Amino acid sequence: MAIKEIHLLHDGYLELDMGMLVYMKTAYYGIKYMGALKPLLIVTDSENVLVDTGIAPLPEGLSRFVRYHKDRSIKEELADHGLTPDDIDIVINTHLHMDHCGNNRLFRRARFFAQKKEVEYSNRPDRWMRGGYVNSFIEGTDFEEVDGDHTILPGISVIETPGHTPGHQSVVVDAGERRIVYMGDACPLMENLEKRDVTGILYDPKSELNSIDRLRSIEGFHIASHDLQQMKFDLVL
Ligand SMILES: [Zn+2]
Repeated sequence: MAIKEIHLLHDGYLELDMGMLVYMKTAYYGIKYMGALKPLLIVTDSENVLVDTGIAPLPEGLSRFVRYHKDRSIKEELADHGLTPDDIDIVINTHLHMDHCGNNRLFRRARFFAQKKEVEYSNRPDRWMRGGYVNSFIEGTDFEEVDGDHTILPGISVIETPGHTPGHQSVVVDAGERRIVYMGDACPLMENLEKRDVTGILYDPKSELNSIDRLRSIEGFHIASHDLQQMKFDLVL
């Protein structure tokens, strides 16, 4: 198996407060941030892999509080690469918050990979974490539950990066000479990585900082999940 192409896709924007992105950085409180939603497409000579699936229409109770804006959809983005949702063989979810698994149901043929801890936690989140999970986005999905670091395909691995959620994982892709580190919400912004500042939505700040340090120790091109400074990445081998 060989990786042929890697592309950062765009599934619109999620309206956030900057205070949700960097913990206790009071200067950021109250500043609106239209965070980018950017699934990663990895095309190999045998399989098409998607990391995270963006967001979909929310249940009524939530849609009053959570706003997003779609200038592009994941379907349109896939079509740009000559693909339909049925061409996706594997979906890797970094975690199961609504803005990372919202379109899972689009991918009817795919195998789904998430951490065992995350799947379990999404069924019974603590009170302060409940707002992040939307049941209808994941119920019925037959996840292949990964327990810790795991190779999904040659050159495509998940690594445990808990803290933002209990079962958060990041994805490391080795393609030719390049290594891409898709950090998910372990680092929603590059500054989380660069300054070792934990994100503002937290299950456990201590393990989140360990995860940031782990990501810092891996050399490669790091992709932060919601950072607007980093909207494009295309690699064709
Ligand atoms: Zn997110």
